[in-house]
Amino acid sequence: MADRDIPPFPRSTRDGYAVRSVDLAKLPATLDVIAEVRAGEKPEAIPSSLGPGQTSSIMTGAPVPSGADAVVMVEYTSRLGNRAEITRAVTPGDNIVPRGAEAAHGTTLLSPGVRLNEVAVALAASVGRSRLKVYRRPRIAVLTTGDEIVEVKAAPGPTQIRNSNSYSLAVQIRRAGGQPVLLPIAPDEPQALQRLIEKGLESDLLLMTGGVSMGRYDLVEEVLLKMGAEFFFTGAKIQPGRPVVFGRCGAGAPARDSPATYFFGLPGNPISTMVTFELFARPILAALAGQSPAKLTFLHARLKREIRIKTGLKRFLPAILSGEFENSEVELVAWQGSGDIAATARANCYAVIPADRETIAAGEWLAVLPR
Ligand code: AMP
Ligand code: MG
Repeated sequence: MADRDIPPFPRSTRDGYAVRSVDLAKLPATLDVIAEVRAGEKPEAIPSSLGPGQTSSIMTGAPVPSGADAVVMVEYTSRLGNRAEITRAVTPGDNIVPRGAEAAHGTTLLSPGVRLNEVAVALAASVGRSRLKVYRRPRIAVLTTGDEIVEVKAAPGPTQIRNSNSYSLAVQIRRAGGQPVLLPIAPDEPQALQRLIEKGLESDLLLMTGGVSMGRYDLVEEVLLKMGAEFFFTGAKIQPGRPVVFGRCGAGAPARDSPATYFFGLPGNPISTMVTFELFARPILAALAGQSPAKLTFLHARLKREIRIKTGLKRFLPAILSGEFENSEVELVAWQGSGDIAATARANCYAVIPADRETIAAGEWLAVLPR
């Protein structure tokens, strides 16, 4: 809360002269300079009132003497000894922020549920709050699945794939304000998978990758069902990321007498994992971290080159956003689909393609999910 009026005094926003606007009816006007008021001036050094024909020189951030109702910028004045000639008219209130105009004493400035960014921190500092009560970072378990997946440091066999999802998720989790807890890679085998899921359910949220598609060894849903999980959805009309699964499961952590833990089964393709985290997991993570619900933020840009695409799914395709100010342009990067990390690394955003459009012409506006 504001611990005093902000600003605590009528504040000059310019270097110049504090004036009574009525004195400037006829221009140029010559006024008597009776004081100089600096930022931080001692109250006893500020004139108690400006009389008719009087002015005080004043600096940016200094308190405006009472009697004055405007500040003239120094650029529109010239000084002749202890007199100042003013060449510009003013309207009452010009270049003054009235006492309490930004916030009156006692006004609530920050409410629970706000993520502390630089503005919130500046606001807290401005009202003398050097300590704030915050939520702890939620612990987000990451469980990657797949018999073909090996650790980054291992030498992969000819048909093995290095684990990249755990590490991309760790970056996204940290950026979203969570604390990643990386579990060992789970094989496509129900017992071992269940043990690792149980471990993951001890965190505040469990993110699994892989094993949620229609393949014979996609066991994640089956194992969770056996564990008594509740599913809220088991797919989304999007690409990449169509098989994404969201639910809640409590059976996994018998030692922990706690309510059910939310989980996501994110598809294993690396870009599907990244996109579904942004669209679905990030908002849940924010909620677990005490934030109030907020919509995702999209930018808008004009499409650089026509695209043709199959309808039916809303697509989030790696793209390059360029241009500045009102000239933002977006262009898809060529890619081999949702496993193509290299192509996505050349992109800097995801272009959002509506589900019902077969062609989108060059020059049309597209929503863009920044990365
Ligand atoms: P899945 O969703 O299990 O069918 O996997 C889809 C694709 O993603 C397969 O080509 C997997 O090899 C690949 N994949 C699954 N998990 C990972 C991972 N942790 N890192 C990199 N690629 C993965
Ligand atoms: Mg798999």
